[in-house]
Amino acid sequence: MIILSAIYNSSCKESVEEKKSRKIINAKHAIVIHGGAGYYPAGQDSGMDLLYRQSLLHVIHIGDSLLGSGASGVDVVEKCISIMEDDSLFNAGRGSVLNEEGIVSMDASIMNGLDGKAGAVSGLTQTRNPIKLARLVMDSTAHVFLSGEGAEKFSESKGLEKMPPYWFISQKAIKAREDALKKLKEEKHGTVGCVVLDVYGNIVAGTSTGGMTMKKWGRIGDSPIIGAGTFADNASCGISCTGHGEYFIRNVVAYDVSARMKYLNEDITEAADKIIMVQLKNIDAKGGLVGLDKNGKVCMSFNTPTMFRAYKVKGEKAESFIN
Ligand code: ASP
Repeated sequence: MIILSAIYNSSCKESVEEKKSRKIINAKHAIVIHGGAGYYPAGQDSGMDLLYRQSLLHVIHIGDSLLGSGASGVDVVEKCISIMEDDSLFNAGRGSVLNEEGIVSMDASIMNGLDGKAGAVSGLTQTRNPIKLARLVMDSTAHVFLSGEGAEKFSESKGLEKMPPYWFISQKAIKAREDALKKLKEEKHGTVGCVVLDVYGNIVAGTSTGGMTMKKWGRIGDSPIIGAGTFADNASCGISCTGHGEYFIRNVVAYDVSARMKYLNEDITEAADKIIMVQLKNIDAKGGLVGLDKNGKVCMSFNTPTMFRAYKVKGEKAESFIN
């Protein structure tokens, strides 16, 4: 409990207005995360499988405890995604894939379903935790989306931790780039995402990524794009996507799940499956998503062989899966 309150205090940055607007409604708090959809060879290395699942469950337990002790959804999403960004198992923050020039270029976004506020950043090369910067864009600027040099300058002005570009580079990312150069593997996914329902009934979603291996010319994927890779609306759901970003942008996937729920009265799983398992599958668009509705119903839909994922709903056991 002491450790938890320390974690909570160090990650709690909400404004006085935010605090005032908080009213416990005893929602069934819930959290769902993903660590990317793709082609991980599940079952081939049980030690590696265990490592992934332990990392996912570690994040889930921290998020669940924070939610249970009254932390706001925004604080929890920021905290959980930061942990995954610092974990080089995942393609976000440290461990991000390398672009054509052999460096990382990171994107992230966050959205609050309470008021529709959102923050996004792209093309970061030095900010240690892109999700923290996305949150600052949401909370302390008049803008939604900052990119590249300007975003790094804003990060500096806010005193966020910076790391030299080599700090982000993992052996796994070097190998993925070499494989891509040799055309051994075409697609590499591993973005991270988190969606929570807090005890005040607010839904928050966030996504963070290094993008796709060998991406060119300042390419930006779906992850930092509100409506494509991330979306949250207390009236419907929160969604975080992973997969081949170009398709997720063209199909405005995260928003489409919410729209189907609102306008067609579909349930979150029905809406997500129609998009991921039918619409995207039909055009050979690979990926998946995780989401939560306003009642804490969890949804995890993917059309790739694997998607690292885990969830916990208040009073229930935490679960983690790879395939
Ligand atoms: N969606 C991310 C992108 O296209 C990649 C991923 O999820 O693996 O940048």
